[in-house]
Amino acid sequence: MATLADSSSLTIKRNPHPAPIAPDARAAAIASPGFGTVFTDHMVVVDWIEGKGWHNAVLGPRQAIALDPAAAVLHYAQEIFEGMKAYRLADGSMALFRPDQNAKRFNDSARRLAMPEVPEELFVDAVRQLVNEDADWFPQVEGGSLYIRPFMVATEPFLGVRPAKQYKFIVILSPAGNYFKSGAPAVSVWVSDYTRAAPGGTGAAKCGGNYAASLVPTSEAFEKGHDQVVFLDAAEHRWIEELGGMNLFFAFDDGSIITPPLSGTILPGITRDSLLTLAREEGLAVREEKYSIDQWEADAASGKLVECFACGTAAVVTPVGSVAGRERNFTIGSGGPGQLTGKLKAKLVDIQRGTAPDPHGWVLTI
Ligand SMILES: *Cc1c(COP(=O)(O)O)cnc(C)c1O
Repeated sequence: MATLADSSSLTIKRNPHPAPIAPDARAAAIASPGFGTVFTDHMVVVDWIEGKGWHNAVLGPRQAIALDPAAAVLHYAQEIFEGMKAYRLADGSMALFRPDQNAKRFNDSARRLAMPEVPEELFVDAVRQLVNEDADWFPQVEGGSLYIRPFMVATEPFLGVRPAKQYKFIVILSPAGNYFKSGAPAVSVWVSDYTRAAPGGTGAAKCGGNYAASLVPTSEAFEKGHDQVVFLDAAEHRWIEELGGMNLFFAFDDGSIITPPLSGTILPGITRDSLLTLAREEGLAVREEKYSIDQWEADAASGKLVECFACGTAAVVTPVGSVAGRERNFTIGSGGPGQLTGKLKAKLVDIQRGTAPDPHGWVLTI
């Protein structure tokens, strides 16, 4: 759809904020940033129009965007996004983790939502330049990072149902602390009767619509006193898929690990992929294999299942300690964080923060 050749060389015009937030106000804002509530001074915006392709790439002041009330995104949810982080390395420089994978997945999502692809170089360039511009916003807190949110919305004013002919690709930054409080014990999950994604649907795309549909099940989990929701497959309501925004792993007493396969209804997490590689390097027998909710409960009861964890960019690796559903309630292992979970997490975090070698070339310094 996009004219890749002519827009890949697009240069991003730099238009710095005339009145950025004062250093003391900024320091106060990032002292305890939490997740997703503090934003930096700048953003990148790039426009796309059918026939013209990507144009007008600007790194400028972060501000509200004007949308016509008929803009397609407001009616039919033609929207996709990514979630990435800039990490601080030991030498004080900053780095991205596998940004090429985010760019590729963004374009996979774009194709599924009938949107134009963003040239990979433009995607990574926009992210790098923005992080560089707002480097002073990097939070100094333990486990801190700059969370990066690239996204694309259909801006064409048109109420008919067909792919829009105008879009905006935007990148914003949000200083972030730990997603779950540091040292938080294992989370408790609720097995939902709702489903997240059906075969042939948009489950493998990172689109806002998937999240909109997950809000009722997530609220239900919260109301019942749980931290996260687990979705089962839509067809049989039997196979474990993932959490609302994180992939799942199961570790057994024989040193093997299972994670559900990328069946088209699961989001192909980059953390998931990285942990698969690291677990194989650890000599663990790793299988991408369907795992049922009944087996989960039986293996937890017999002690065969020793650990379970969820993973994603925002929360990295989070142990799952207990599981509840309409007809079940069980604990995994000790119910607390397990050894293997901690070890894999440390391996990943050490690469991301540059304190361990990076044999796969995953880290891109800014
Ligand atoms: C983003 C996301 C993940 C995790 O992907 P990462 O690339 O590891 O951050 C998992 N599940 C869903 C539904 C997601 O949207």
